[in-house]
Amino acid sequence: MKKLLYPFSGIAGLFFPVGKPEDDGTCEFYSEKCLLACAAIHCIDENAENKIIGHELKKAAYDFIVKENLFKVLYKITEELKVMKCNILYWFACGDCKKEHQERLMNIIEYLHKYGIVQCGFTRNKNFWEEVQKYTQYIALTLESYTEVQKTQRTGLFAIPDYKTNKVKIYRGEFHSGTCGMSVYSFKNIVRKANCLECYKLKQGCFYE
Ligand code: SF4
Repeated sequence: MKKLLYPFSGIAGLFFPVGKPEDDGTCEFYSEKCLLACAAIHCIDENAENKIIGHELKKAAYDFIVKENLFKVLYKITEELKVMKCNILYWFACGDCKKEHQERLMNIIEYLHKYGIVQCGFTRNKNFWEEVQKYTQYIALTLESYTEVQKTQRTGLFAIPDYKTNKVKIYRGEFHSGTCGMSVYSFKNIVRKANCLECYKLKQGCFYE
């Protein structure tokens, strides 16, 4: 495994294979709409860093994470973060947490949390999202509508895609903390380049508390 993490929106991203599990992807909890409009497949910005990461590299990263010795995985992640001079890991810059690997990923997240690594990202795996709250509140659950958010009766971080604009609305409970996508973050009268590190420093977007 040469390289596991790649720059993503100002921080370090972990990319898993995109698509249905039967098509060699990790998006077990996909919706038909999201597969059709998937930003990781259809909206690759010419300047975006993830353009260079093809399926094979994503598959190699995924296999390494779920199959290798746990401490080897933790060592690799923390070493690469050091090289990138970054303390924030973005889970599922594309792809997702499959049910069968939930326990494994939770172990990794727990250890990284103990090492002081900040972890953020997006998932459609509701059970994983509920569990992960123990270690990070910066991983958003992606749902199709605000009504679905209300039905969860939870106050965590949520993302609702707008398939017309290829952006997501970010909610911290009831509070709409910004809209993000196509390399742009906006919040009220703020419009700037989407950058997770900037959001972290300013406590905006996914890092709004
Ligand atoms: S809202 Fe900010 S932290 Fe969340 S994905 Fe967009 S740029 Fe990253």
